[in-house]
Amino acid sequence: MSDAPALTRRDVLVLLGATAAACASPLADLPLPPAALTADPFTLGVASGDPVPEGVILWTRLAVDPTVADGAMPAEPVAVGWEIARDAAFRRVVAAGWDWAQPQDGHAFEVDATDLPTDTRLYYRFVVGDWTSPVGRTRTAPAPGAPVTSLRIVLASCQDWRDGYWTAWEDAVAQEPDLVLFVGDYIYENAGTDVREHAGGEAVDLAGYRTRYAQYRSDPALQAAHAACPWVVTWDDHEVDNDYAPDTPEDGASVTGAAFDARRADAWRAFREAMPLRAPKADADGAFQLYRRLGWGDLLDLFVLDTRQYRDGPGDRDDTDRTMLGATQRAWLVDQLGAGGTRWRALVQSLVMADLTFGGIAVNRQQWDAFTAERRAVLDAAASAPTLVVSGDRHAGLLAHLGPEGAGGDVVAVEVSSNSISSDGDVDAGEAAFKAAWANQEHVDYAQAARRGYALLDVTPDAITVTFRVVERVGEPGAPASTDASFTIARDLTVT
Ligand code: FE
Ligand code: CA
Repeated sequence: MSDAPALTRRDVLVLLGATAAACASPLADLPLPPAALTADPFTLGVASGDPVPEGVILWTRLAVDPTVADGAMPAEPVAVGWEIARDAAFRRVVAAGWDWAQPQDGHAFEVDATDLPTDTRLYYRFVVGDWTSPVGRTRTAPAPGAPVTSLRIVLASCQDWRDGYWTAWEDAVAQEPDLVLFVGDYIYENAGTDVREHAGGEAVDLAGYRTRYAQYRSDPALQAAHAACPWVVTWDDHEVDNDYAPDTPEDGASVTGAAFDARRADAWRAFREAMPLRAPKADADGAFQLYRRLGWGDLLDLFVLDTRQYRDGPGDRDDTDRTMLGATQRAWLVDQLGAGGTRWRALVQSLVMADLTFGGIAVNRQQWDAFTAERRAVLDAAASAPTLVVSGDRHAGLLAHLGPEGAGGDVVAVEVSSNSISSDGDVDAGEAAFKAAWANQEHVDYAQAARRGYALLDVTPDAITVTFRVVERVGEPGAPASTDASFTIARDLTVT
C-alpha cells in the first residue's frame, strides 16, 4: 500500500480548473437549459458594436429559417450561452454567461459584455443546444486620453439588396478595419426586384421589417463584415419610409397619422432589435435614444447623431426654428463639441452637410441645405477643434471642405460621404455625370457617382487618409475592387 497522501477535493478542483483553462471553454460548464430546436439557429450570423474601454455589445438573432418573420422559432424563450476570449480558439476566455432570447424580441439576443481588457482584440461566439455560432472578431476601445497612433475605419451606407451584390463588403473586410461606421439605409423598405428581389411586399409592420432585416443578414458578405470588427451604426430614412419625418410619411395621402405612428414604431423597434447598440430598448412607441458619444483614446471622439427621429417635416429652409436634430440632441452636441480634448472628432450621421444648392435652391430638401440655421449652429461649435463630418445617403463618394454655412469662408470642417454599397447599382455614364453635376462646386474636392463602394479612413494623430474604394460593377458577384481616389486631411484641414 502506498503512503502517498490522497488528493484532496480542493486539489482535484485546481487540476480541473487548470485543465479547463487550457482545453475547454466555460461554455461547457454553463448551466444552459436545453433548446428544443431541430436545426441550426445561427443563420443570421453574429455582430458586435459600440466598443468602450472595458466592454462591447455582442449580438445575434436566432432563426432556423431566415425567410419567415418568426424565424421558424418556437414561441418560447430559448437559452443562449456566450463567451468572449483573447484568442480565436477560446483558450483564454475573459467573460462568459447565458441568458434567454425572447420570442417578443424576435429571438434577437444582445449582451453588454463588461470588465473586458482595454484596447484589446477579442473573439466571441454563442451556443444554443448543440449548435455553436460562427466566431466573431471584435475589440475594446483605448482608455480616454491614452495615446493612440492609428485607427482604421470603414465608412459605409446604402445597401439596397435589389440593386446589386455586396462585393464592396468583401473588399472592406479585406482591409481589416478596426471599426465600421454605418450611416444609414441599412435596409430599403420598398417592394421590388432588380438584380435581386426583395422578399415580401413593402415593409409596413413588425413582421415585414423583421423579414427584411433577416433577408439582408442572410447575405454572406454582410455577415462577414459584421463578424470582422465592431460596428457603430445610425440610421437614415429607408429603415422606416423613404424621405420620412416623424410626422410626415412619404405617402401622406393614403396613410393616416395613427397608421404611420404604428408603422414607424414597428420600424424603429425592428432596427433596435437588429443592431448591436449601446442604447436602451425601444419603448412602446418604438422610440429610444440613438445619439451617443464614443471615444477612442486621445485620437478621436465619435458623435453619433440621429437625423430622423426628431426632425421637422417640409418647411422654409431658412426658418431659424427649423431642426433636424431636435433641441435636446442639438444642445447636447453643441455642449460636447465645446469641450474638446481629442486630436480629432467626427460627426457620424446620415445626411450631406456640404452646401449642394444650385442658384440658392436646395435641390435635396432631406439634407442640411434645408436646415440652414441648425447647420450654422453645429458648424460654429465644430470649428473649435479639427472635425470630420461623415455622411452617406447620396449614393456617391464625396469629399468637401465646409465653411460656416456649408460652403465658402474659412474651412471649419471636412466632410467625407461614403458611396453606396449597392444602391443605384450599375449606372450608365450619362446618369453618373448627371448625378455628379451637383458636385461641380469650388468647395467639393471629389465626387464619384458612377461606381459603388465605400470610404476607408486611416486616422493618425496628425492626418486622416481617406481612400475611396469602388467596385467595377455590382450587377454580378465578384467584380474587382480598386482605389478610385485618395486624399490626406491635415489637422489644419488642408486637403491634399
Ligand atoms: Fe440610400
Ligand atoms: Ca437616404
